Amino acid sequence: MSDMTRTLLQGGEVIDGTGAAPRPGTPVLIDGDRIVAVGESAVAATTAGEHEAPAVVDVAGLTVMPGIIDSHCHVTLGEPASNDELFYHREPASAALIAAFNVQKLLRAGVTSFLDPDGLYNIGPALRDAIAAGMVEGPTMRAGAWALMTAVGGTAGRMIPDGGTAGYAEVVRTRDEMVLATRRQIKNGADVIKIHVTGSIPGRPGELQVWTLEELRVVCDTAHDLGVRVVAHCRGADATRDSALAGVDIIFHASYMDEAALEAIHASGAALCPVFTFLANLAEHGPKVGATSSAQDIFRSEMEQTGRMIRKAYDEGVPLLAGSESGFSLTPYGHWHYREMEIFVEHLGLSPLEAITTGTKNGAIAMDEVGEVGTIEAGRRADILVLEGDPSSDISILGDRRRFRYLWARGRSIALSRPWPERRPLAGEKPSSWSAVPLTWDLVHP
Ligand SMILES: [Zn+2]
Repeated sequence: MSDMTRTLLQGGEVIDGTGAAPRPGTPVLIDGDRIVAVGESAVAATTAGEHEAPAVVDVAGLTVMPGIIDSHCHVTLGEPASNDELFYHREPASAALIAAFNVQKLLRAGVTSFLDPDGLYNIGPALRDAIAAGMVEGPTMRAGAWALMTAVGGTAGRMIPDGGTAGYAEVVRTRDEMVLATRRQIKNGADVIKIHVTGSIPGRPGELQVWTLEELRVVCDTAHDLGVRVVAHCRGADATRDSALAGVDIIFHASYMDEAALEAIHASGAALCPVFTFLANLAEHGPKVGATSSAQDIFRSEMEQTGRMIRKAYDEGVPLLAGSESGFSLTPYGHWHYREMEIFVEHLGLSPLEAITTGTKNGAIAMDEVGEVGTIEAGRRADILVLEGDPSSDISILGDRRRFRYLWARGRSIALSRPWPERRPLAGEKPSSWSAVPLTWDLVHP
């Protein structure tokens, strides 16, 4: 019987994702959707038994590493440039088709797994299943549905209604609604329940904690009873602390975390996913795309205060995850999934190898697949990126798709040479305005 499913990658330098030093000339054997052997045993395995010789791919001079795992990517949002666009210009059926189109860009950017914590309608769980069923080509996916919010809202100000759903928000007004919404989302396939623990009120600085500790416990207990994890958006020390106390499994942002919050995280075992990428892109590159916000200052102060505590948490053993917040106009799909790792190197002082671990091995925590994905080891899923150059000396090359030579996702070879997916906007997808400024009498009578 010919063994068409076996492939031997020969001669590459392996960065295995565990943080171990790169190993030159290390063979890797893939059988079906698994890595079955690494190192000398990979070569031995090709001659042992009744197997025919595997297909050999010469990867000499190239780096072999795990596919990137993005622990925070909103694949259903469709790159809106504003909350207006996101909340009022997304119709369910076309949003699903757009998400199925965009997910292929993640794959082409070396992303073989990702967690989509929340998004529009129930598209996330449906897309996850379509990918797994072989209907849509994309990375392995874990997905939430709507983000739970109290009526105070999240980061979209007064666009959040007093009840029901809007955009990616589901407003829960009472303990009973919190239980019901959690159970309904789980029934409809959510892998995680997302809580927007802090929100912004127009005219008030920063974000406020808009959930009580007791309310957070209602959602965590309901989800955990059904074996489902809870993830939370927290901008503020008290929100981070209360989320950890309530049992939230992954805390996003953890901005301005203090000692009490870090203590609670240690006690609960939560993982941290700071998701600096959106702010960093806005602060460092925003002017190139006409962004008007004063994000430079926000980013600087957030990096100074939050970055120091995130680094402390990391040094004390809290699992750190790399999430890109891809899905907005400042973080379009397929461009910035590596960026959080770069920020960890540049702003937190991690070594490139340590940063790679946050975007590979630790990503398995986001996927709830620890020991299954994220490393180049025998028995792991065959999610493998092969590229030119050495990301352990220059992490930034992970953003340069031109260097990518091969990609396997669940053991399937992905054709990287095809042209990048391009499309035109759909009717009604983008908001339009009547004018950039008011047409005053003075303007036409200078
Ligand atoms: Zn997000």
